[in-house]
Amino acid sequence: MTSIVVLATRNQGKVAELRRILEPYDVELLGLEAFPDLEDVPETGETLAANALLKAHAVSDATGHVAVADDSGLAVDALNGMPGILSARWSGTHGEDLANLNLVLAQLRDVPDDRRGAAFICAAAAASPDGREVVVEGRIDGMLIRAPRGRNGFGYDPIFVPSGETRTTAELSPVEKDEISHRGRAFRALAPNLRDLL
Ligand code: IMP
Repeated sequence: MTSIVVLATRNQGKVAELRRILEPYDVELLGLEAFPDLEDVPETGETLAANALLKAHAVSDATGHVAVADDSGLAVDALNGMPGILSARWSGTHGEDLANLNLVLAQLRDVPDDRRGAAFICAAAAASPDGREVVVEGRIDGMLIRAPRGRNGFGYDPIFVPSGETRTTAELSPVEKDEISHRGRAFRALAPNLRDLL
């Protein structure tokens, strides 16, 4: 029997990405648009993993299905791992991608090229209505350049160059980015664990 899994997001891009990764499994993946009455879960955790687990449990409890949730962020070496869980609201307002990116660039203005390391990190969690849970992490290491380049992606993509690449993640195609991204890696690591929760 095909099992239903709910991904705790309204982002259709994330639903499509996880659906591709779950293709080999007997799972029907639904996004939150299938549950219009569900309220957003406040991300009050102190780590990416805590936030992902919080969302996965809340959605699993509310829907009665196994739920998957992710939380991602940019960890900058020269900023002691920040903005981290604050990545979406680093400049003060949630979702202001350009202001967030410009603040990081300003904070790194005097940081030399050999100390501009950073990583995108994604925690992906799954929870079942009976309280079981699993959480994994995916990351992609790289460095931050001084001026934005590229039009794909979102957030900090225009200033992030993955290790071994010359292009920013905003210059990669979506498929190229999925293959190496923190989220792709976390979702691929989570997928085989879903079987134990269904
Ligand atoms: P979310 O948890 O996927 O919503 O990501 C939180 C924040 O981290 C986003 O608002 C972005 O600022 C940043 N972020 C996460 N993943 C990426 C990415 O793949 N590229 C660029 N920025 C990202």
